[in-house]
Amino acid sequence: MELKLRPHHLLCTQSYSGTGYDDKFKAHMDEIVHRLRTEEHTPVTLVFSTDELCAACPNRLGGDCCKTNEKVQAFDRKTAECFRLEEKTYIYQDVVRKIREAATPEIMDYICGDCSWYPISACRERILGLCP
Ligand code: SF4
Repeated sequence: MELKLRPHHLLCTQSYSGTGYDDKFKAHMDEIVHRLRTEEHTPVTLVFSTDELCAACPNRLGGDCCKTNEKVQAFDRKTAECFRLEEKTYIYQDVVRKIREAATPEIMDYICGDCSWYPISACRERILGLCP
């Protein structure tokens, strides 16, 4: 089944290691990430609004709004800009491979520097292939 993901969640789903906002969010994230990491060809449609992961998030305010809208929209814009992504359907496993090939420490700092998870999780190391 096809998934809707916002651009910066292409990064979060690669680096997720089991921590999240609350139990409901984590259970949902576990399920989606497991699918994305075990399937070979998962179609994902990029959307610049709330997505499949936001659906179980306590920060979602309803509709297309997030409590930290300005911040997450900037993450989306920068992710799309750095990896030349458009609002269309990709195969998740192919697009994350291309992201990993193109990612640099500078790009990661530029996109994710303002994220509260960035200093405390291994996003940077995972996407840059510096840890398993
Ligand atoms: S914090 Fe905002 S962008 Fe992130 S999953 Fe929650 S609702 Fe979506």
